[in-house]
Amino acid sequence: MEQDQQQYKTRVLISNEVIRKRIDELGQQIAKDYPSGTIHMVGILKGACIFLSDLVRAVPAPVKFDFMAVSSYGRGKTSSGEVKLAKDLDMSLEGMDVLIVEDIVDTGVTLTYLAHVLQQRRPRSIQIAALLDKPSRRMRPVQVKYVGFTIPDEFVVGYGLDYAEDYRNLPDICILDPVNPA
Ligand code: 5GP
Repeated sequence: MEQDQQQYKTRVLISNEVIRKRIDELGQQIAKDYPSGTIHMVGILKGACIFLSDLVRAVPAPVKFDFMAVSSYGRGKTSSGEVKLAKDLDMSLEGMDVLIVEDIVDTGVTLTYLAHVLQQRRPRSIQIAALLDKPSRRMRPVQVKYVGFTIPDEFVVGYGLDYAEDYRNLPDICILDPVNPA
């Protein structure tokens, strides 16, 4: 794994300061959009855990949160196209206002699957917040109500996002460049 990290260098795409400002704006917007009742946020592990942690503290309204995990990308940079539920929620969503909190929408396969799974639990409403959106890669149409940043088709790491479980703790969102491109 340490060998892996030596093959890449990171280049900042979005700094932590800019991320935090944008999350504050999203938090204010979300609180306005849900004037009554509790927002039930569903964070998608592991990538969205840092975004969710900052987002819940930026929303000046009652929030509960829980986590789900799906398996999709494995260790590589390209999708297997398969999504499986790896960890389910502990709480019921019936009659609740649900906000799915995801790190990045790429092909849209993961969120299409998750929205379908959660819709069957009869929430009152269901919306999606994604920190990053790569619209150029979309294969399935997904309605993402809250988008932090729209980014180009680059593989990014940091702020919760990994490459083979590395880089999640970087404070900024960075592009991963090979040290010696072929
Ligand atoms: P989708 O199903 O929309 O293609 O992919 C969503 C998932 O793929 C994300 O939750 C994330 O785990 C992974 N993913 C997509 N693009 C990137 C990227 O640029 N960097 C990282 N680290 N993961 C990505």
